[in-house]
Amino acid sequence: MNHLLKCTNVILWGKTPPLVQRVHLFCTPDDGGIDLIHVLSRSSAFIIKHVSTIINLYHVSDDDERPPPRWFALARYWLGLQLKSFVKGSTRPGGPHAETLQGFHDHAYKLFKDFLRIPTARPSTSISNLYRLLISRIKQPRVVPLAATPQCWINIQHSIVSPAARDLAWRLTHDILPNAAKLIKFKAIASPACVFCALDETVEHLFITCVFARDMWTRFAQLCSYVFTQQVNLLTSAEIILNLCPLQQCSDIVKTLFMLLFTELKHLLWTHRCKVRFEKLAHSNVAVWRTFICRIINRCKADFFRFPREYFKLYWCLNNTICAVVDDELVINLQYM
Ligand SMILES: [Zn+2]
Repeated sequence: MNHLLKCTNVILWGKTPPLVQRVHLFCTPDDGGIDLIHVLSRSSAFIIKHVSTIINLYHVSDDDERPPPRWFALARYWLGLQLKSFVKGSTRPGGPHAETLQGFHDHAYKLFKDFLRIPTARPSTSISNLYRLLISRIKQPRVVPLAATPQCWINIQHSIVSPAARDLAWRLTHDILPNAAKLIKFKAIASPACVFCALDETVEHLFITCVFARDMWTRFAQLCSYVFTQQVNLLTSAEIILNLCPLQQCSDIVKTLFMLLFTELKHLLWTHRCKVRFEKLAHSNVAVWRTFICRIINRCKADFFRFPREYFKLYWCLNNTICAVVDDELVINLQYM
């Protein structure tokens, strides 16, 4: 079973870390999944159907001319007292043929009993219906209401957002980043403490409430106020996690440039946290902020050569605050704030 899961992971994700929780993959495409078969639930559906058929055959009257299937006598042998309680108002299963169930039928009996605890359980239904019922139990409630925030997905899918920053934003929105609060549950690390302070490192803490994150977002709000030449407030937690733009009534160009800067900073927050945790790097807020500005400038220089000039000017030369193009030369105006 584990080997099968590993194989599907390799086929789906290759070497990149998974971008959504595994349970999402079992959902239908309408619910944001890919209808991947959950092998264990599928095999359980077959077993439950098998048990259900045996029980229902007990209800076949004696004068029914159709002969029972060939496996019936053998199955009946194993289905002793335990399943008798599930056969409606009849003593027809007779005495037990076996005091205890063995192997497969023991497993089948437990599955069947467990299945009947589902409020809408109807064992006589089709295999695919049984499977849907079983799969509905392993799907956890979604962190993000996919249909409720289409803007969230549109924002991170913009082609101007770098692939690494997009992957990080995607994983953050799906809440599958391996932060300390999660890893401690698997006993993968010794302490759930944040690397910047002593509190527990959850996603909300790491990206929103931590002193380090708060300092970065304060600097970011100042940077945005300068770049977009309008007052930008501190981002709310929903805006940070769900990739929403706080700038209302502004052009798509402003929103796109904001998303580029915003996703880049989130990516830096995470990579810096990993460096401090795993490489034991010394930590300084000013140094991290300078790294962020460096990243933006480098990205700007790269785009200057990559993009057609008009397209480049459209985004990067907005208000000429980050850079300007003078005589077809790039002039960087952004300072280390
Ligand atoms: Zn912290």
